[in-house]
Amino acid sequence: MFDVAVIGGSFAGLTAALQLGRASRSVLVIDAGAPRNRTSPGAHGAAGWDGRPPAEILARFRADLAAYPTVALRAGTAEDVSGGPDGFEVRLAGGDRVAARRILLAHGQRDVLPPIPGVAEAWGRRVLHCPYCHGYEVKGAPLAVLALHPTAAHQALMLRADWSDRVTLYGAGPEGLDIAALEAAGVLADPRGVEAVRADDAGADLFLTGGGTARVGALFLAPRATLEGSPAARLGCAADEGPMGRFLRVGPMGQTSLPGVFAAGDLARPMPNINFALADGAQSGVACHASLLFPGFVPPLEIAA
Ligand SMILES: Cc1cc2nc3c(=O)[nH]c(=O)nc-3n(C[C@H](O)[C@H](O)[C@H](O)COP(=O)(O)OP(=O)(O)OC[C@H]3O[C@@H](n4cnc5c(N)ncnc54)[C@H](O)[C@@H]3O)c2cc1C
Repeated sequence: MFDVAVIGGSFAGLTAALQLGRASRSVLVIDAGAPRNRTSPGAHGAAGWDGRPPAEILARFRADLAAYPTVALRAGTAEDVSGGPDGFEVRLAGGDRVAARRILLAHGQRDVLPPIPGVAEAWGRRVLHCPYCHGYEVKGAPLAVLALHPTAAHQALMLRADWSDRVTLYGAGPEGLDIAALEAAGVLADPRGVEAVRADDAGADLFLTGGGTARVGALFLAPRATLEGSPAARLGCAADEGPMGRFLRVGPMGQTSLPGVFAAGDLARPMPNINFALADGAQSGVACHASLLFPGFVPPLEIAA
């Protein structure tokens, strides 16, 4: 019986495990090894690590954890979680089962990219989602935004304001996009959709419906994020609908609606960001520890009927 099973060993989960390891609590971190930004050559905006490859940052986190003998890391996928509130069983792919008194969910979200040829291959390099993460690297270049979703307007306006004076919104877009307001702000609107993307080291060629191509520094889009099939969804933690998809509802200490279950990182936030995941990991790790010491100290989140 571990004190805590952490499901997901990336920015949030490893930070939570560090807090718990420093309290000499027995922790098992189960990690499938696919952090959300794995395709990105460099993660930006995290002080001390700005621009370093995500895999390098996480390898360093794991190396730090090796100093704590009560923390074990296990490569694998948690397929199901049952039990509670003071004794859970985690079933791993392959059939192994582990027991823990608390569950800390840190398995992130899964991005569902549009099925446009070339998009998956360029995701994180020339097809991007976040100006703060990658906008600086393409600053001043012609930029494209794909009108998949109402947040495309937000992306286009931000990029036009502070990253480039050549921003084009492609596609007829979802209902409710205020094209006139975008044009008034200096965004070009082109109703042609993007049928394929071919990226290289310097930018990307967009192949447009009806013929024609456009050369851009990057294409921005907002994929749908999903928790479908995840341990959080299987457990039935309360969740809210965000602009990009569902995310877990958590209290200020990272407690979910289920007693004994905590959550941290992207799976409990509408906006993905490493710094937020680190902060959440620290908070949930500490709260999880407090809940082991002082039963009732961290009550589960109350959900109004
Ligand atoms: C392309 C891209 C680039 C990005 N660039 C930046 C950036 O530059 N700066 C920034 O601040 N943010 C960036 N982000 C956001 C950042 O990646 C996330 O905020 C961050 O990874 C969240 O950390 P996390 O620990 O919550 O989840 P993740 O990093 O997604 O880690 C979740 C971990 O859980 C594992 N897992 C999933 N399911 C299971 C399971 N059932 N069992 C066991 N393990 C499981 C996964 O394999 C993964 O290792 C980017 C996102 C994307 C998509």
